[in-house]
Amino acid sequence: MSQVVTTQVAKTKKNLKLCRCMKCPTYTFMCKMKNMPGNLMAMMGDIGKKDHMEAMYCAFDESTCITEEKGCICMTCALFKKYSLDKAYYCLGGKAPKM
Ligand code: SF4
Repeated sequence: MSQVVTTQVAKTKKNLKLCRCMKCPTYTFMCKMKNMPGNLMAMMGDIGKKDHMEAMYCAFDESTCITEEKGCICMTCALFKKYSLDKAYYCLGGKAPKM
């Protein structure tokens, strides 16, 4: 079991628009398809009240679908800079980035 990483990233739709997880090679096509209905449902409500979403893993918890590292683009995300994040692979619980 991986360690839970908590960050200060606000669960807002404005931040979700900046999120790059959907463009990441680790977020597989299968997971995108599987999670699309749930993500659309979540988007219709107040995402600030959600405990889990299959996106913006730095704000929510880790993925229940993604299981394998296929490259991380967390560090290229505007949220990474905005919130001074320091981990990679938030979808997998957060790991020290490889420099
Ligand atoms: S948390 Fe990082 S590694 Fe995981 S899908 Fe999002 S950008 Fe990719």
